[in-house]
Amino acid sequence: MKRPGVVVLVAALFACIGLHAQPPVVADEAPIAAKAIYARPFEPPTRPAFLALPPGAVEPEGWLRDWCLAARDGYTGHMDEVHEAFRQAWAADYRMTGERLAWPKGAWPYEGGGYWFDGLGRLGYALHDETLIEQAKRRFDVVVTHTNPNGILFLWWLDKNSPEDVKAVTEGSGSWSIWATGLLSRGMSGYYAGSQDPAVLRALETAYSGEGDWIQKSTPSNLWAAFDAYTWTGNQALAQKLTALFALDEKAMGRGGDFWNRYRRLPNAQPGTEDNDHVVHFLESTTPWVLGYLWTGNRELLDATLAWHALLERVAMQPSGVPVADEWYGPTGAFRGTETCDVAGYVWSKAMLLLVTGDGAMGDRMERALFNAGPATVTRDFKNHVYFQSPNRMVPNSPVFDHGPRAEGGNYELYHSPLCCTAALNRTLPWYVTHMWTATYDNGLAATCYGPCRVRALVGERVPVAIDCETDYPFTDTIKMTVAPEKETSFPLSLRIPGWCEEASLRVNGEPLLAEKDSQNFVRISRTWKSGDTVSLRFPITPVVATGFDRAKGTAPTHSHHATKLFPPEANPEPGRPYASVSYGPLLFALPIRDTKDANTPDPAARWKFAFDVQNPRVAVERRPMPERWDWPLAAPLALTVNAMPIDWTPDWKDPALPGVPFAKDKPSQRITLIPYGCTKFRVSMFPVTERPQKVTEPQGRLEKRN
Ligand SMILES: [Zn+2]
Repeated sequence: MKRPGVVVLVAALFACIGLHAQPPVVADEAPIAAKAIYARPFEPPTRPAFLALPPGAVEPEGWLRDWCLAARDGYTGHMDEVHEAFRQAWAADYRMTGERLAWPKGAWPYEGGGYWFDGLGRLGYALHDETLIEQAKRRFDVVVTHTNPNGILFLWWLDKNSPEDVKAVTEGSGSWSIWATGLLSRGMSGYYAGSQDPAVLRALETAYSGEGDWIQKSTPSNLWAAFDAYTWTGNQALAQKLTALFALDEKAMGRGGDFWNRYRRLPNAQPGTEDNDHVVHFLESTTPWVLGYLWTGNRELLDATLAWHALLERVAMQPSGVPVADEWYGPTGAFRGTETCDVAGYVWSKAMLLLVTGDGAMGDRMERALFNAGPATVTRDFKNHVYFQSPNRMVPNSPVFDHGPRAEGGNYELYHSPLCCTAALNRTLPWYVTHMWTATYDNGLAATCYGPCRVRALVGERVPVAIDCETDYPFTDTIKMTVAPEKETSFPLSLRIPGWCEEASLRVNGEPLLAEKDSQNFVRISRTWKSGDTVSLRFPITPVVATGFDRAKGTAPTHSHHATKLFPPEANPEPGRPYASVSYGPLLFALPIRDTKDANTPDPAARWKFAFDVQNPRVAVERRPMPERWDWPLAAPLALTVNAMPIDWTPDWKDPALPGVPFAKDKPSQRITLIPYGCTKFRVSMFPVTERPQKVTEPQGRLEKRN
């Protein structure tokens, strides 16, 4: 992420805070919350729908484990070898002060370390890998042992009583460093949940409950771990800070458009009135208001977050399940980019919204983003990555994302400059895996995202249970769960029914179960479970051809980091270029252009100039066995054949675009084979079409819910 212009609140405003502070909220709630096994001892009265399980409760299996192992053996376990900055990140011998706290002048490893350590700890616990956990511990311990009441958050070598240090982290781009402390502390919070190391919790408490209004002086990134620290400790000083913070109204906050204010209210529904935003900034600034909702009970804060996310998806959702983010969001486009930081950020933010709202649609979005955009961020060995991916990539370094000092954002490289994406890519998989299952307040479990895994947790009257999810989902449509409680016990099991699935079938011990899904798209089975009980799920998949208009003006990244007005597709004055895309369940399909000697070398003989036959697509499904070891191969286990007509199409690679008009059907269609988008490095996934779409099904985000 390039610095989006951090705005720091003027110090004078903090004088007002005391006037708005409410009495501490919740200490006497503790006994009620404690009844739920995974509830924190001190929770505000407004509760989330689901409770996160500690990292390690869900362990990936099957193809998902292979991918996690690739992450471990590629980037995640070896970041120190990728770039010196990762060795420097939060290291005792790398302490930036003064103007070097500015992002371009030395502070950036604090962001990089924050992202990486977060992924490192969570992946370590997910895989039960002692070496990774030890590595995470070593890095966190430096911060944990040094954090002190005079430090500035986790910048322990600075002194909050030194005007010079305060100036350095609150003025200009120096404030970047206190944004980055929030990324680090989210990692610490996850690491504490996995390790239960009391020193980590003490450090969180020290940093966030001490003198001064540092949570506020920073940015919302610090809210997560501050909130977590309170729920574990009940620290009253911390409670007062959170209460004061969420009680501030816009007037007291002082400015519109900054980190704290803009997203606490609903977006203006009038097209062309709201500005877009840098997507990292958007995700980090909208999502935390759900904590404001939990803390205050003010539903408007949750509604605002959800409305902003819905707007992002309506304007910018790509078929691959992530918004356009190059680096600001804008209309869906075949050659628009999505920054790898935003693939990670999107999965993280949807996991948070899933926990708070309990809405199964958030699980749909996590799956779609992870299964499509996730693998496109990295090479199959998890050792090179792109800064930007785009739905169509036919030639190397395309589109020309001349971003930053290293101008090949669309190529797979060991690292890109800035190094944000190199760090953030470590978060995507572990955040998904650790949120595939959650706990419920009635001491049951909920399957929130699917894939092969094993969950181990306490249920009912604290009875240990293991549930094995045997599946090749999303490459197959069946999931077999084997339930093994330590002793016969009753607890509710909630199962998410994907929004795209018309008729799920469900069997318990082979017997069909007629169960209605609730308004959040979950089916709930309450019964007494004994070891060996099975739950079989089938989500029949129908191929979906989506059509719409690419209204991006060319490749679009302007690199100028300025805002433009937002238009949802139906109100966008741009006529747009017609396209079609094909999905099968949560998977987007693409015409692969084989990569040959590396992920930046396409097969020159590959044929990709086709218009999708939207009048007569004739989508057929082909299945092959899953490979022995999973690495997103071109020889994919699932393929679709479709009708497409050869066309003349010679994009200008400096500014590629889809053809502006549909092609007349003057040649017979041919059968072409599409494979999952995630298996491709070069591809066409937003196709030119043979006729102007009549029935527009954009934006892609709606594919998940067809009712
Ligand atoms: Zn990035």
